[in-house]
Formats: sequence, structure tokens, C-alpha cells
Amino acid sequence: ENARTIELLEQAASDGLPFSVILLDAKMPGVDGTEIARQIRRNLLSADIPIVMMCPGGKPDNFEELKTIGVSEYIVKPIKQSQLFDKLVSVLSSRHARKIVAVSAPDHFVPSVKRHLKILLAEDNPVNQRLTIRLLEKVGHAVRLAKSGKEALEAIAHEKFDAVLMDIQMPELDGLAATRIIREAEKDTASHIPIIALTAHAMAGDKEKCLKAGTDAYLSKPIRLQELVETIESLVHS
Ligand code: MN
Repeated sequence: ENARTIELLEQAASDGLPFSVILLDAKMPGVDGTEIARQIRRNLLSADIPIVMMCPGGKPDNFEELKTIGVSEYIVKPIKQSQLFDKLVSVLSSRHARKIVAVSAPDHFVPSVKRHLKILLAEDNPVNQRLTIRLLEKVGHAVRLAKSGKEALEAIAHEKFDAVLMDIQMPELDGLAATRIIREAEKDTASHIPIIALTAHAMAGDKEKCLKAGTDAYLSKPIRLQELVETIESLVHS
């Protein structure tokens, strides 16, 4: 079942033992494999686990679309053992090669921080909320959650924070608009709270948009603990 799939992936990732590969049935009663793939890709920590779609009959008509969602491969049902083996070797070896380049420290490595901070997390997605809070609390930071840009502004008006993690895509008031309002208000007080933009997709031009709106730094999801901690440290202690 759909919600259960995401939950299992999330649990495994937060335990430091993420799944290596996801085999996804293209057709399950009531749910579309394409939609589940999309939801898995939206999930923070499972975002780079290879997905192999199991398709009845042959190559799926929408394989190009599946690839843009992030499905790595497809395998034709009924599945032959040798084919399954080949596909797994193929996706896992390319994943391994990518991992070596992309990750400098293992996921279970907990970086140390100079001081425990109070962080405002503005994020509307429940899965990302839980995972980001978990990452921040792992290093000892205290987290206050705002579920929209509007809630973020209210929190900042009433409490003092060391830094803000600002999701860019949020309902009501998005992260860029909220950042602009915060920066405008700071002109009167000559203060400057570090704001780190969080974006779901590393799109060309996103970084410029965020910096122009007044964020100090920019992270694209999935968020890595090391990178998150280093970015916060560099802004708060500078
Ligand atoms: Mn969002």
C-alpha cells in the first residue's frame, strides 16, 4: 500500500539502513505505479534509491515519462531470474559509482556542531518535515516547525531564531515571498537572520532566484546531514 511504502522507506533511511533498490509493480489494485514512483521521488531520503518498474507485456508506453520521474529501469513481467539479476547489477553498479562521487561521509556519520541552535523550519510537506527535524535534532539543534510561509512570519515575529530553513514551494505564502518580507522588515531593525532555501528540484536559475529574494544559501533536496550542518554553521558563526 502506498502510504506504507513511503513509511517503510523513511524508517529504513532514518535507521541508517536505506533500501538499495525498489522493485515497483506498474499495476497494483487501486494504485498506479507511476504515481507511487512520483511520491517516492518526492520523499527526502529515499530520493536517490534506484527504482525498477515491473511491467506486464513489454516496455511501458510511458517509459520516457517514467525516466523523468526518476525510474531507472523497467523489467518485463513475468520476470525471468537472469533478467532480474542483470537489471539489478546494472542499476546498483551505476548507483554505487554515483555514491562514491557524491557522498564524502557515510549517512550515519553525525557531524559535531559548535553550539546547539534554535532553528525555524518552514516546510509544508509532512515527510520532509519529519526527516528534516530528525536530521537537525540528531546534532542537537532545537526545531520549531512552520507549515507555511505565513506561519514562518508569525513565528519570527514572536520568537528569536538562529537560522531559518525555508522551503521554497509552500501554499499561501511561498518561501521566496516570505523571505522578501523578512528582509524588508529587517531594514528597520538593521538585523539579519540567516535564511537557507530548500528546493525540491535543482532547477537551473533556482539558486539565483533564491539569492535574489534574500536567502543566504541554497540547498536542494534530498538534504544531506553533513551539508545541512555545514551550511548552517558557516552562516551562524560567520
Ligand atoms: Mn513544499
